[in-house]
Amino acid sequence: MKNNSIKTLVRENILQLQPYISFRDHNEFNAPVMLDANESPFGECNRYPDSTQKKLKTKLAGLKKVSPSQIAIGNGSDELIDLIVKIFCEPKKDAILMMNPSFAMYGFYATINENKVLKLDLDENFEIVKSDFLKAAEDPSLKIFFLCSPNNPTGNSVDDIEFYLQNFNGIVVVDEAYIEFSEKKSSLELLEKYSNLIVLQTFSKAWGIAGARVGMAYASEEIISFINTVKAPYNVNVLSQELIIKTLEEENKLQENVSLILEERAWLKQQFEGITCIKKVFSTDANFFLIRMENVDKVYTRMLKEEILTSRRDPAISGCIRINVGSRSENEKLINLLKEI
Ligand SMILES: *Cc1c(COP(=O)(O)O)cnc(C)c1O
Repeated sequence: MKNNSIKTLVRENILQLQPYISFRDHNEFNAPVMLDANESPFGECNRYPDSTQKKLKTKLAGLKKVSPSQIAIGNGSDELIDLIVKIFCEPKKDAILMMNPSFAMYGFYATINENKVLKLDLDENFEIVKSDFLKAAEDPSLKIFFLCSPNNPTGNSVDDIEFYLQNFNGIVVVDEAYIEFSEKKSSLELLEKYSNLIVLQTFSKAWGIAGARVGMAYASEEIISFINTVKAPYNVNVLSQELIIKTLEEENKLQENVSLILEERAWLKQQFEGITCIKKVFSTDANFFLIRMENVDKVYTRMLKEEILTSRRDPAISGCIRINVGSRSENEKLINLLKEI
């Protein structure tokens, strides 16, 4: 970012907003008599969750080597994408920039907020063309650039993220939903250097807890305080917070999950070779493959018929299907069918 301070990027109404404060949470007040929130005194899940998600943030901060004040927790990282758009983009006036193809939800939330969505077409290897980016970035209505690395649905990572942080006059969000599967470094280490960086991560993919709906934003204390101001106070429920804390205490859980997926990914890659309905398997840093088929319609329809659900990306990405790495028995069924076709 060249010369903007974060406050000049934030919408005026958000700058004026007073956060909803739960006295109990903000003072760590655990009284024997709790008559402040109109809850029921009975039942197992009768109390509101901690709106500040303190215990969860403390655990995460230790793991990620950041301060708890640099973490915001969302109902999935999806909610955080929505909140980030709302904080920085004035409806009917501002715009976001995103890679194309990339994760559709950036455009989805921007459109709901009545913001324009500018798309930066990737080249044939799904890389950003830097000169195209520099040209696009001149548009003064742009407030946020959503980078997805590794990118969904292409699987490759974005190189030289610092270039975009330096040359974009707004917020750069690096969505790292798949970072645990990649050998590339997380952008978390750039947080100290760039005040316009937000890194998104999630428990939905490598951690295997998509059902709990928990995602994280890491950024400067200033940006995080805006996210905390606009979020619904009780956005992450008690059961999810407890499940995540418990999972974080199981020391090798993540590494075990990731190793298994990476083994399966390597196995699948090997199996894809020599399958005649496959034209090209794109290289991946994530837990899925983007595959170009000889006859995508025939392959996809046949897989559906045999109850193997995959994600068709054609016609947006010509001839392609995105297939994620599953368990060995799922992967075997997939390979057997592809061989048959
Ligand atoms: C799956 C995915 C997410 C995760 O979203 P959650 O709301 O945390 O489940 C975020 N970004 C990308 C690019 C994804 O593919």
